[in-house]
Amino acid sequence: MTIIFSNHTIKYEIESTVKLFIPAIRFSFLYDERNCDGDLVMTRVKTGKSFTYLYVYVRIGDRIKRMAYHIPNEKVKADKNLCEYNLCRLVYLCLSEITELTPQWGMLTGIRPVKKVIDLIEKGFSKNELFAELKNKFFVSDEKLELAYKIAKIQMPLIKTNDYKTVSLYVSIPFCPTRCSYCSFVSHSIESAKNLIPDYIKYLCIELEKLGEDVRELGLRIDTIYIGGGTPTSIEAEDLQRIMECISKNFDILSVREYNVEAGRADTITFEKLKVIKDMGATRISVNPQTLNDEVLKVIGRKHTSEQTLNAYIMARDLGFDNINMDLIAGLPTETVDSFKNTLDKVILLSPESVTIHTLTLKRSSSLYLERENHFDNPVSQMIEYGMKNLMENGYNPYYLYRQKNTVENLENTGYAKNGKESFYNIFIMDETQTILGAGCSASTKLVYSNGKITRVHNYKFPYEYINRFDELMKKKSTETKEWRDFIATI
Ligand code: SF4
Repeated sequence: MTIIFSNHTIKYEIESTVKLFIPAIRFSFLYDERNCDGDLVMTRVKTGKSFTYLYVYVRIGDRIKRMAYHIPNEKVKADKNLCEYNLCRLVYLCLSEITELTPQWGMLTGIRPVKKVIDLIEKGFSKNELFAELKNKFFVSDEKLELAYKIAKIQMPLIKTNDYKTVSLYVSIPFCPTRCSYCSFVSHSIESAKNLIPDYIKYLCIELEKLGEDVRELGLRIDTIYIGGGTPTSIEAEDLQRIMECISKNFDILSVREYNVEAGRADTITFEKLKVIKDMGATRISVNPQTLNDEVLKVIGRKHTSEQTLNAYIMARDLGFDNINMDLIAGLPTETVDSFKNTLDKVILLSPESVTIHTLTLKRSSSLYLERENHFDNPVSQMIEYGMKNLMENGYNPYYLYRQKNTVENLENTGYAKNGKESFYNIFIMDETQTILGAGCSASTKLVYSNGKITRVHNYKFPYEYINRFDELMKKKSTETKEWRDFIATI
């Protein structure tokens, strides 16, 4: 498909709107109007004497739709986003008619719809006004508005507990036993990365020590800790212990409200590792089945069975973990609605404290992307609906939600939790109201200022780069965090 941007630069937003209907496709872009074959979205802006004229022409196969709109020039001058919004709106309406699709999140393309709802509530919108605004302006369905509103109401009192000196710590262990077919993370197979692990841990611990010094110097309080990856439990129990001991030595873990370890894949979870995690003070772990259908597990490249997941879960319970999350993915290849339902029903019987349902994402860097056409008719919305209904009927409330690009049907990822078991870390990372200090390769540090400004500082993506350029990274990090450290020193 070709997208033409004629006489304007609203590229990113138009492309995102087209992707709502035509995901996971490489587009060609043209910046002037020319004849071209094949599917086409042509967008044009023309400024006249008194009006700015917007024009959209869409051709898919033998179906064609044109739409136009004009706005007084003084309004365009007063509101820079007016052209952008209305051009996207025309593209949305044309594509919706041609494809006969009605995206449930309408033309909202951002990854944080709940944040939008919270912003409107804080501006004084009533529930009805807020629903009218998002329905009329962005065509969001009632069902998704209810979901986002419910989550906003759960999150708002928890977000209020933040102050700028309260921060979270993210620690990255970027290794996995094998790569799942849908994975787009920078994770490295434990076999190929084995030699790097001792050095990786050495430098990770140096970075944690430095962060610990900063935390003490600036008078910060660590609120939550998240050890993620990759799969943190893919390293040996003693390596995990070294990292967690380093965390205990450098941070006051007794004042931490939530200490997460993403145990993740069942093929990496052992009694020794769970014991280390428990003894070192973690309060919440994830044991992620993704699916309890063994055939699907094979297809996605996971080298474990559903029975191993169940055993890992029982082992964690026996060790006394009282806050366990389980992640599922709706829309995995070869998964049917019935097999998804079967997984969810079994998970509910296990009664973990929280369940997160992700929608399959077709990211370019995943091997599954190559078979993307096979997933366009995926019955994922039925799975998402079943998950929401049944989890809510069984005492789980939706408490955080985010969207990713290129998810099947543009649906969302939602975390559900029993009362009082919502993960603060998950809420804060999505709401962006708390600073997150990142350590390890591919970790990012998110620095939040009182005026709403957010700065991101990224560590190098690959372990060998992290190890070999560690000093350079620490200098870069120190320079890029200086402004925030100066801001904190004034509080
Ligand atoms: S376990 Fe997670 S991070 Fe690791 S390969 Fe699978 S999807 Fe990627």
